[in-house]
Amino acid sequence: MASLYRQEIQTLKGVGKRRAELFRKLGAPSVGALLRLYPRTYEDFSHPFSIRSAPLETDCAVRAVVEQAPREIRIHGGMVLYKALADDGESTLKLTFFNNRYVKNLLRQGEEYLFYGKITAHFLKREMASPEFYPSAVCPSILPIYRQTSGLSSRMIGNAVRETLKLLPSQMSDPLSPTLRKEHSLCKLDFALKNIHFPTDSESLKAARERLIFEELLVLQLGLLEMGGRTRTKSPFPLQNDDTEEFYRLLPFCPTEAQRRAIQEAMTDMRGGFPMNRLIQGDVGSGKTAVAAALCYSAIKNGMQAALMAPTEILARQHAQTLSALLSSAGIRVGLLTGSLPLAEKRKLHDALANGEIDLLIGTHALISSGVTFYRLGLVITDEQHRFGVEQRAALAAKGNRPHMLVMSATPIPRTLALMIYGDLDLSILDELPPGRQEIKTYAVTPNYRPRIFEFIRKHVKKGQQCYIICPMIDESDNDMASVQTYTKRLQEKWLPDCRISALHGRMKAKEKESIMNQFASGEIDVLVSTTVVEVGVDVPNATVMLIENAERYGLSQLHQLRGRIGRGKDASTCILISASKNQQTLARLKVLCSTSDGFRIADEDLKLRGPGDFFGNRQHGLPTLKIADMMTDMEVLKKAQTTAQAIFRMDSSLSMPEHRGLRAEVHQLFQDWTY
Ligand code: ADP
Ligand code: MG
Repeated sequence: MASLYRQEIQTLKGVGKRRAELFRKLGAPSVGALLRLYPRTYEDFSHPFSIRSAPLETDCAVRAVVEQAPREIRIHGGMVLYKALADDGESTLKLTFFNNRYVKNLLRQGEEYLFYGKITAHFLKREMASPEFYPSAVCPSILPIYRQTSGLSSRMIGNAVRETLKLLPSQMSDPLSPTLRKEHSLCKLDFALKNIHFPTDSESLKAARERLIFEELLVLQLGLLEMGGRTRTKSPFPLQNDDTEEFYRLLPFCPTEAQRRAIQEAMTDMRGGFPMNRLIQGDVGSGKTAVAAALCYSAIKNGMQAALMAPTEILARQHAQTLSALLSSAGIRVGLLTGSLPLAEKRKLHDALANGEIDLLIGTHALISSGVTFYRLGLVITDEQHRFGVEQRAALAAKGNRPHMLVMSATPIPRTLALMIYGDLDLSILDELPPGRQEIKTYAVTPNYRPRIFEFIRKHVKKGQQCYIICPMIDESDNDMASVQTYTKRLQEKWLPDCRISALHGRMKAKEKESIMNQFASGEIDVLVSTTVVEVGVDVPNATVMLIENAERYGLSQLHQLRGRIGRGKDASTCILISASKNQQTLARLKVLCSTSDGFRIADEDLKLRGPGDFFGNRQHGLPTLKIADMMTDMEVLKKAQTTAQAIFRMDSSLSMPEHRGLRAEVHQLFQDWTY
């Protein structure tokens, strides 16, 4: 395979200079790369329909005889139309082609073809525009469709691939050794390449895909391991003792099985010889904070310092409160560092930290500012990691000497994507909520319901419960988006004059925000009108109603995060999404939220509907582009690939053993123009 990457595309039969340029543009400068230019999709000719029984507006194949060969029709603007008529003895089908003079020679009267495309019906007349077609005698059963570019059609690419496949040696080397293939029941490379391009049947296509996806993910994971190089550097801080059981006695509740498992997995990492590098994914409310606390506890009891970084000041403060309440009885000294800390206090904190008088430092990204020096930083935790860039995670780690690292994230990263992005991390999943949680009832309604909703809120406030109202804007603006300021005023004056109402938004001073959050937490405020600053992590179990205005403005995962602020206590909770949107897709999106509380499913839906761009702006994860394994691929394969990569790496980190050389070539191929 490696030698095919050195063979230029131009050496192929039928590929001249000009066409070679087009192939390069598509990402296939060499014969080897062309083989890895997998079809975008397939046209299935294996089960053709009769014209009458074919589904409408759906891609499908029909078998019919050409009754009238294509006629040329010139229309204005220089367009040329070709119209033909086909018949299958039962009904007729009109065929239309645009600007494609080749069809004149390709479609012959009286011959039978398979046509592939979407059928539309105008009264009783059925029509197919620009179908793909093959004489039925020579029609492949499944036809590859390639991403094309102007001047290079899918058919031409297919022909070039066919030529390339002929060049494959009969004994082809395979990056996956026979042992690996056997272990994971995967087909050989030459079978996979032939069948991914020209499948003999759907089974073979499936086998080919499975193998190529596994291979690609394995290569990706190996590359990430190589970058990380973590398996090679020993940890300066292996944990001697596991003090988890002691920690559990401090907790006001019993840890869930999932929490125990995650803590155990992390402890095993930290007690091994290498720095921990672990991602914990757990839906909102699954209790990640307790996991973080457990690890801090053991790390600190083993003589290290720990740091916990949170994306917002509100969240950092709340963590500091929770954790110092929990840990100070065990003699652990907790410090809080945020950007708004007065200079004198900051200095004091810096000194105490450098002298080892603080055991656990919690804060915002102020933690990575230059004045911060640790005495013996051994454990670094980032909460809600998707808010931080890769560099920030690295910068915090650089405050210590290869400290153990834990990254905690709620849903918005679908697991598959997380594994790709944090491919060098091990994964623990908190797939269980603490007991007694009730499902949050969620409704999507139009603004007409507001009066009823305010009544509903009033009823809950009278029972002593609290409510969040989320608005997209801070100030009134000329669009009709709800704003925190105006909304608060109306509630106070008109809608809920008998409730205690306050506003909260990102433009307020940190002290002000803190005091409002504290008042809300202690029940002095009934209704908190806020922007999405409450989105991450905030924990007020007595809040049971959330009303989200202009719900169409948010991604599903973000709504799910927001909704996660309620349903944290023993009382039933309700989330109401208000939207005036009439857009069908928007309404369908909001429905997803009403029908499930599974954050992973929601994140996947979100990804399907809005694409990965919403999770990570312009590829800031900076991974190489994958050719076949996509974001939606089953995480099982990814996990398998990851474990396999780790095993290979432990045995042969330079991939120099004969059975790994093929893999090494593929790693270099995938990562050739990749910068971290
Ligand atoms: P998240 O995973 O969203 O960060 P938190 O750590 O904020 O979740 O926990 C949510 C709430 O659940 C907190 O009030 C916390 O005290 C509580 N909690 C966590 N673990 C348990 C448990 N095992 N049993 C009961 N309550 C728990
Ligand atoms: Mg949290």
